[in-house]
Amino acid sequence: MKEDNDRIESVISEKRVKLHMFNPSGRKIWTVVGKGKEHWLDPDLNFCSCEAYYFNTLNGGSECYHLKSVKVAKERNQVNVIKFSDDEYENFLLALISDL
Ligand SMILES: [Zn+2]
Repeated sequence: MKEDNDRIESVISEKRVKLHMFNPSGRKIWTVVGKGKEHWLDPDLNFCSCEAYYFNTLNGGSECYHLKSVKVAKERNQVNVIKFSDDEYENFLLALISDL
């Protein structure tokens, strides 16, 4: 879908695919900043917290553009990696969940 491609390109060029890395455990949390909202993804499980995922992807539709963006960003090595310490993990998750 052309609209999806445009969105993916802007997500990637604006570095909105973020990988939060927690050290020393190496835990990872992926997010994509969409229209004013940050979405939580798990590319390994092919999961995204957005509405399009809930309404389309789970019903056999195509993947949402967040999931696609993560794949493209990985391929092109354009992931915005942000490092945290493990101490921050719990607070990070709480903030993320309250934002969803
Ligand atoms: Zn999504």
